[in-house]
Amino acid sequence: MTAEILKDRPAHASDAGVTRLDVVIVGAGFGGMYAVYKFREMGLRIQGFEAGGNVGGVWYWNRYPGARVDLPSIDYSFSFSPGIEQEWTWSEQYAAQPELLRYINFVADRLDLRRSIQFDTRVTSAVWDEERQLWTVTTDKGDRYEATYCIMATGPLSVPKDPEIPGLDRYKGRLLRAARWPHEPVSFEGRRVGVIGTGSTGIQIVQEVGKEAGELYVYQRTPSFTMPMRNEALEPEYVAEVKRHYAGIREAARNSAVGGVRPQSTRAFYSVTPKQRRQLLEDAWKNGGIAMLGTFSDLLVNEEANEHVAEFVRGKIDEVVEDPAIAEKLKPRGYPIFARRPCLDSSYYETYNRPNVHLIDCTTDPIVEITEKGVRTQSGEIELDMLILATGYDGLTGALLAFDVVGRDGRTVNDKWKDGARSHLGLMMEGFPNLFMTTGPNGPAALANIIRISEHDVDWIAAAMVHMENNGLATIEPTAKAEQDWMDLVYTLSQRSLLLKAKTWYVGANVKDKPQGLTLFTGGFMRYREHAAAAIQNGYQSFAFERAKEAVAA
Ligand code: NAP
Repeated sequence: MTAEILKDRPAHASDAGVTRLDVVIVGAGFGGMYAVYKFREMGLRIQGFEAGGNVGGVWYWNRYPGARVDLPSIDYSFSFSPGIEQEWTWSEQYAAQPELLRYINFVADRLDLRRSIQFDTRVTSAVWDEERQLWTVTTDKGDRYEATYCIMATGPLSVPKDPEIPGLDRYKGRLLRAARWPHEPVSFEGRRVGVIGTGSTGIQIVQEVGKEAGELYVYQRTPSFTMPMRNEALEPEYVAEVKRHYAGIREAARNSAVGGVRPQSTRAFYSVTPKQRRQLLEDAWKNGGIAMLGTFSDLLVNEEANEHVAEFVRGKIDEVVEDPAIAEKLKPRGYPIFARRPCLDSSYYETYNRPNVHLIDCTTDPIVEITEKGVRTQSGEIELDMLILATGYDGLTGALLAFDVVGRDGRTVNDKWKDGARSHLGLMMEGFPNLFMTTGPNGPAALANIIRISEHDVDWIAAAMVHMENNGLATIEPTAKAEQDWMDLVYTLSQRSLLLKAKTWYVGANVKDKPQGLTLFTGGFMRYREHAAAAIQNGYQSFAFERAKEAVAA
């Protein structure tokens, strides 16, 4: 690809004090960071915007105790720079948030990304100017920018969601949100602490805070399945081996369903004997990580097979939790295992054997209100010094719907997505020319390694820009038919998936009045890449292009 298409065109301010750019990039998580690097290297005039004070996205905000990635660190890292791969050394199999943030900042330093990103700045609107074929972008600092392209690297999990419980404003103790955690250390020693939420975040918090708090009250509405992470320090010899073989590891990841190297199987559950199945599950439990999901190929589509594995994990809860009544409450029922994001823990179930840790089952004893002093459930009030909210996100679509994005004919994304997110390939929307998304809601976003998807999406966008430059084209957008065909495929594949059978953020169930449904591409990362590549190889047939209006007039 001819990358240096517009080398070194300086940004300039027009008479009206509006800065003219080629590309605006919203968000400085993994997707935004790579976009800043890639498009700047291409010689484009770019500007990134980030609401946080620095790079890192979720890892910038989520500084809660126990925050840790649940994919192997070697997988959860950029692959576009062999230099960075060699220079950076991971210390643990599953890196904790401080190490992840160090890595992210190392990349930002190494590539000098920050000079192209305005931090503590929220983009408040992006409006398509039909006549001039560009996006006008405004920020909460009151500045205006004009750009040919707008990249929404706003992330699937960037809008935290408070619970809809009356009285939250009334609480006089210390209220902590997992997704907006303070930068300074928080001590729980001797404190009475409450945690609401038992998803991936709550589970990580509970096992840490349980060790330190005077008393810990866990408010659980839906129990999650969690499996042993079995995290360990990485041996230097292994790290050296990985570094020698990174190219192959990355290639394997790109050619997998999950965008990573975790085990996968082509073996159907009922294709082996009950004894062999049991052994495979025991081995997976012993090995830890997401090995369990990789034991059989059909766990997300075969309900009976899935229930066998769910029952296996429930049995493990019985083995660990000493009080049978608590064990029973912790056992997830009524939805398939893996239909919610599977969690990995180091001592979650063990935490409930501690005398200072108390489980409140909100299905039988619902939270009624937050009071000045604590939380009142149907059975009474518990006074708390601190209350932690681990209540999740307005996932996939929340970030883009939170500000004004106005495309052709004054149509907003809010209007376009009123019945659910729709786009072509999760990358572009009909009616929104030159606006691209990374890890968009109709791609494999939440179901595969977010860094692999981000890199793929940015590279795909770069190729489209080069195609336009080489062919004298001013705008690109998918045709309505291409978008409909993609959404039909997404829908057809999703109907086979057991992900539909749990009330999660994947399907929008955690946000009041949000359209329900599985809009993610469930065909796996590799097939997603094949579809996106085909859209280029067939000569961009599923896209409509326009030439510059001045050129047409002349
Ligand atoms: P989540 O999975 O959506 O969990 C939110 C929790 O809050 C659920 O247990 C939910 O219960 C509970 N909740 C919400 N409102 C409530 C209310 N009014 N009363 C009682 N409980 C309430 O959110 P999350 O744990 O932040 O995880 C989101 C995603 O982030 C994960 O799926 C994962 O993709 C990612 N994540 C990854 C890691 C990692 O890599 N290790 C760590 C953290 C998060 P209900 O289910 O009953 O609504």
